[in-house]
Amino acid sequence: MLPKAKKRFGQHFLSDRHYIDRIVSAIAPKPGDTMVEIGPGPGAITEPLVGKLDHLHAVEIDRDLAAALRRRFPVEKFTLHEEDVLDFDFAKLGGDDLRFRAVGNLPYNISTPFLFHLATFAEQLIDGTFMLQKEVVDRMVADPDTDAYGRLSVMLQYRFDLEHLFDVPPGAFTPPPKVDSAIVRMRPLPANRLRAKDDTRFAALVTAGFGQRRKTLGNTLKPFLTAAQIEAQGIDPKRRAETLSVEEFVRLSDA
Ligand code: SAM
Repeated sequence: MLPKAKKRFGQHFLSDRHYIDRIVSAIAPKPGDTMVEIGPGPGAITEPLVGKLDHLHAVEIDRDLAAALRRRFPVEKFTLHEEDVLDFDFAKLGGDDLRFRAVGNLPYNISTPFLFHLATFAEQLIDGTFMLQKEVVDRMVADPDTDAYGRLSVMLQYRFDLEHLFDVPPGAFTPPPKVDSAIVRMRPLPANRLRAKDDTRFAALVTAGFGQRRKTLGNTLKPFLTAAQIEAQGIDPKRRAETLSVEEFVRLSDA
C-alpha cells in the first residue's frame, strides 16, 4: 500500500512496473557506483537500485517517508539524508576525488532550482538521470529559435550534454499528475568545452537577454554592450535572445 501523497512535497508515486523497470535500465546501476537518489518517497526505484548497488545515498525531505526507508534498508547498503535537496551539499558523498551519479523522480515544484543547484557540482558529477515535467525537459533540450528555448536551455546546454530518453504518462503514478513527464539524462561536458571567460558575467548576460523576450538584444543588453559592440561580434543587435546559440552568448559575454 502506498502512503497518502502530500501535495506540499510534490508527491506523485511511481506505481507502474513497466516504467519503473525502464527507468532502472536507463540508469544502469553498477555495484561500485557512488549514487544518490533525490526524493526516494516510498521507494519504487530505491528498492531495485539498492539491490544492484553496493551502497545508495538518498535525500528525502518527508520525515515519515524517511523513517520508513530507514527501517526498510540496512545501514550498510543505504544512507538516508533527511534534508531539503536544495540545501544538500553533494560534496559530502565522498572525499576530494568524489565522482557521483544522481537519479530521481523529482518533485516538479523545485525542478528548476534543483537543476541550477546540481550544476554547481558539475565537476564531481558523472551523470544525472531524472524524471521531470515533460515541458521542462523540452525546455532543457530546446534548439534556438523555438518556443521552448530560453534561459534554462542556454544555462544547462553550456555545461551539460542533455538527452531526452522517453516520456512517462500520468497513469504511471499514484496519484496521477496533471501533466506528462519525461526522463532526461545529463552528462557534464568535458573540461575543454566552450567556456566564457567569466561564468558569472555569462549567467548575468543570459538572464538579461531573456528578461524581456520580445525586446531586441540592443535593448536588453544595454547595461553590458552597445549596439555597435554587439555588431562587432558579428551579431545583429536587432535579433532577440531566443535566436542566439550558446556559442553566440559566450562570444557576447567575452566581449
Ligand atoms: N521517487 C518516488 C517515486 O518515484 O515514487 C517519489 C517521487 S515524488 C514525485 C517526489 C519525492 O521527493 C517525494 O518523496 C517528496 O517527499 C520528495 N521531496 C519533495 N521536495 C523535496 C526536497 N526539497 N528535498 C528532498 N526531497 C523532496
